[in-house]
Amino acid sequence: MKSTRRTRSWLVVLFVVCTCAFVRGTHAQSADPTDEPGTAGEPYPHMPSIAPIGVRTGKYLDVPAASRGPVIDPAKGYRLQDLGGGLYMITDNAVQSMFLVYDRGVVVVDAPPSVAAHLPAAIAEVTNKPITHIIYSHSHADHIGGTKTLGGHPIILAHQETLRLLKRAGDPNRPLPTITFAGKYTLRVGNQVLELSYHGNAHEPGNIFIYAPAQRVLMVVDVVFPGWMPWRRFALAQDIPGYFAQVEEIRKMDWDTLVGGHVARTGTHADVDTQAEFMSDLKQAAKTALGTTQLGVGLSESDRANPWAIFDNYIDRVAGQCVNVLTPKWSHRLGGFDVYIWDQCYAMEQSLRIE
Ligand SMILES: [Zn+2]
Repeated sequence: MKSTRRTRSWLVVLFVVCTCAFVRGTHAQSADPTDEPGTAGEPYPHMPSIAPIGVRTGKYLDVPAASRGPVIDPAKGYRLQDLGGGLYMITDNAVQSMFLVYDRGVVVVDAPPSVAAHLPAAIAEVTNKPITHIIYSHSHADHIGGTKTLGGHPIILAHQETLRLLKRAGDPNRPLPTITFAGKYTLRVGNQVLELSYHGNAHEPGNIFIYAPAQRVLMVVDVVFPGWMPWRRFALAQDIPGYFAQVEEIRKMDWDTLVGGHVARTGTHADVDTQAEFMSDLKQAAKTALGTTQLGVGLSESDRANPWAIFDNYIDRVAGQCVNVLTPKWSHRLGGFDVYIWDQCYAMEQSLRIE
């Protein structure tokens, strides 16, 4: 009896402690002017339901069926797609590379670390010829960091800017190119042809277009994401106006199949049109938000001498309006819309303000 009463009184104490902690936690999220400086305040008015950057998302939006692409055999860990005329695309559902078979060997275009592990098996499905050439689309490790694991001494082709960036990186997993070019380079091997060309900076300097004229396949990496929202901040484009121009260039070119370097499937002209339409809507939404949002609204009086704070508050509200405008039309059309829409709105408003 005595011990039951003691247990009950402990439960009461525990309840009071927990309740107080809960109330304190709720209080820390509110806009009380007594809040500790630097803590999160009350959300902005008209805050989008999509979680902003840095806030945990309980359940992301479902990926539309058209974005998912064909399934991968888990026993193999990759999917090989015949693009015709001895050209193949290989993907693990997240990254893609390509290889071209000719009479005496194989030309590999990009060796992403995760895919490179499967490349020997994938190539062995169609030929026993050796890898004689590797083409680098650009310098990034997620696309060429598996090169070393392929072994041998292949000829490595890349843009001269890629050579510069790889010298700077000094990464033993990304051997330096042995042949470089500035504008255009045509690789002829046996009766196969690949046309390499440079269209200026967008994703990063040195990122090239790889076109297979006989197969009518265009490979441009990290620019178009068939069925998907581009990776954050226009796939980290180093030149956002250049990125917009390059999507338009890809849209107008004559090809049948696009290999984009990421996601599960190849792309069509309809995919590029969709991405261009999304980007146009995004640009318009950010432009309107920049023009209709007022500086300093809701800012604490004591922060008015802090220009960083004034702009943080302004840009947050611009990005929030941009997210709200785009959500109804695009949230169920593009895979990963909710994952990166805040990033795209922040990147767009910045580009429009200063570039
Ligand atoms: Zn990249």
